[in-house]
Amino acid sequence: GGTIHFDRVCFSYDGQTPVLDQVSFEVAAGKTVALVGPSGGGKSTILRLLFRFYDPTSGGISIDGQDLRSVTQASLRKHIGVVPQDTVLFNDTVMFNIRYGNISAADDEVVEAAKAAQIHDRILSFPEGYNTRVGERGLRLSGGEKQRVAIARTLLKDPAVIVLDEATSALDNQTERLIQDSLRTLCADRTTLVVAHRLSTVVDADEILVVRDGRIVERGTHEELLRTG
Ligand code: ADP
Ligand code: ADP
Repeated sequence: GGTIHFDRVCFSYDGQTPVLDQVSFEVAAGKTVALVGPSGGGKSTILRLLFRFYDPTSGGISIDGQDLRSVTQASLRKHIGVVPQDTVLFNDTVMFNIRYGNISAADDEVVEAAKAAQIHDRILSFPEGYNTRVGERGLRLSGGEKQRVAIARTLLKDPAVIVLDEATSALDNQTERLIQDSLRTLCADRTTLVVAHRLSTVVDADEILVVRDGRIVERGTHEELLRTG
């Protein structure tokens, strides 16, 4: 499951200024769609509507054919896992941090999520490299590695849909490469919506939507968008 459908969605925060204008797209189950475009174009607003912080002014949004207006935020939280751009990690092991929010998960499930996110080699490391219990210093996790912990935490929840939200971050090369890898491997058979600044971050998306001034002004694969400039 996990098909997302936006059907001619219009939205305004103040009831006057249009922020989204007839936005239509579909993310088929298991596919990856990326939203890219300049700041202020409407990408975050699309996510806020998907999380039901607001409802569309007109048009409709559905997940697996069910209109979002009949879905609670609590239920959405179970179905949509968000990997935020900056996850605050605890001064405890990577294992602990992955399990956070899923305390009932068995060790082998946590290890499996860590493997999928390619952070299992650091599973007993501390994010800042300082183990307060043992009093030892080790290598701190890089930004990209912290992002992998956040991805593993989300994978452990096993949501039907994953949202990678990079809307407001200036990605370092390492994190950008990680997101490219994520699209290829860990999110391979999950419905994934990724929000990014640059086209180069989302080379492997099945479809890229260019959002500008509240509209989808272009759509296609990375190759197709490069061809049309
Ligand atoms: P993006 O994520 O692509 O940067 P946003 O969805 O944040 O774009 O913004 C789209 C438009 O909506 C912008 O003009 C922005 O100023 C406006 N906007 C965003 N959030 C709010 C808000 N909470 N109230 C009013 N206007 C908003
Ligand atoms: P902002 O741009 O203000 O950070 P976004 O529109 O990017 O907000 O939405 C991300 C927010 O959604 C997070 O702050 C988080 O609290 C909330 N959130 C995270 N996961 C879910 C979910 N599954 N369902 C609803 N809301 C969520």
